[in-house]
Amino acid sequence: MNVLVINCGSSSLKYQLIDSNSEAVLAKGLCERIGAPGSVLKHQPAGGDKVAIENPMPTHTTAIQMVIDALTDANHGVVKSLDEIDAVGHRIVHGGEKFASSVVIDDEVMKAIEECNDLAPLHNPANLIGINACKEIMPNTPMVGVFDTAFHQTMPEKAYLYGLPHSYYDDYKVRRYGFHGTSHDFVSARAAEILGKKREDVKIIVCHLGNGASISAVDHGKCVDTSMGLTPLEGLMMGTRSGDIDPAIVEFLAKKLGKTLEEVTTILNKESGVYGLSGGISSDFRDLSAAMDEGNLLAKAALEAYSYRVAKYIGSYVAAMNGVDIIAFTAGIGENDGRVRGMVGQYFEYLGTSIDPEKNKVRGEECIISNPGDKVTVMVVPTNEELAIARETVKLV
Ligand code: ADP
Repeated sequence: MNVLVINCGSSSLKYQLIDSNSEAVLAKGLCERIGAPGSVLKHQPAGGDKVAIENPMPTHTTAIQMVIDALTDANHGVVKSLDEIDAVGHRIVHGGEKFASSVVIDDEVMKAIEECNDLAPLHNPANLIGINACKEIMPNTPMVGVFDTAFHQTMPEKAYLYGLPHSYYDDYKVRRYGFHGTSHDFVSARAAEILGKKREDVKIIVCHLGNGASISAVDHGKCVDTSMGLTPLEGLMMGTRSGDIDPAIVEFLAKKLGKTLEEVTTILNKESGVYGLSGGISSDFRDLSAAMDEGNLLAKAALEAYSYRVAKYIGSYVAAMNGVDIIAFTAGIGENDGRVRGMVGQYFEYLGTSIDPEKNKVRGEECIISNPGDKVTVMVVPTNEELAIARETVKLV
């Protein structure tokens, strides 16, 4: 069965066509600048060259049509017709408390997703636009919604409630939701599997360190805590997001800078994290690492603060689960950046584990990087959110 996985943003759309039997990616690509001048579709068939198709994409429906045309094209296509696309899996950012698992999309589900728009005003409306565009072009193809928040819905009340008046939870559903759930689910399952264990038998901490970053505590198969909150701004320091700060800083900065709350929130989302802390060197850890090697002290301070925060979260989740068996690193930084993994690992002595510098050179591959006999197994487990979405889709249709 061929599953088209769609991750639709407000002006971009990523896709992969996955053969669910072999789990091979048949083709993947990206539509950029939808609704703006200079829109382009970058399409790559498996084993073939990337093609860039420049065409106006005034709407997401045009973008989806171009994706279908590319997938069925005589030269760079990978299927003969639309009939060979059996289902579509949509990544949806926020499922609120309504969705604790993936669902087949129907009118009622569309309404329920729309009701979550409030919680993710930048993302959910774009996800819905993507679904509608697909429905327009593929009205008879079954569609599944896979939510970034769903895996975290098992968190107990004590982990998801904030220290705020309870009425804000009752009235507005202000609580911790968490994101990257598809990745935390996939990586924790795979980490246990690599060790030949059942996820239900172990305690796992997953460090998803990408541009956005979050940590989760997966206790006997269930997520019991995660670092992102009502929005993806909470928790770890990230590429450009601040992560946890004293909430009073918002008002303090608004007054000092003469900015509105919205403007300060934008600074916290887009100009902070390791980018801001390094004095604007970069949000990319390759650049920061190179700058640190050249003796740049701000880059060093940013990487140290970043790693320290990751280590502190790990410690808090060890406490939350009363122990840990596996710590798994994933996503762009977690999979590739041995320096950051090593810096985090410096704090592992109390766990009776350490990272082997040789094994820690690994990039983008599954690998155990702690030493044999260590009390906690530390590993690198590449994430694959698209494959996870495809698997969910197959399960439901
Ligand atoms: P997202 O999906 O959130 O956009 P990714 O998981 O793709 O992010 O991670 C992207 C980040 O991973 C980059 O910004 C960069 O900091 C980091 N990264 C990617 N490759 C490497 C590498 N080889 N070494 C260090 N960091 C890397």
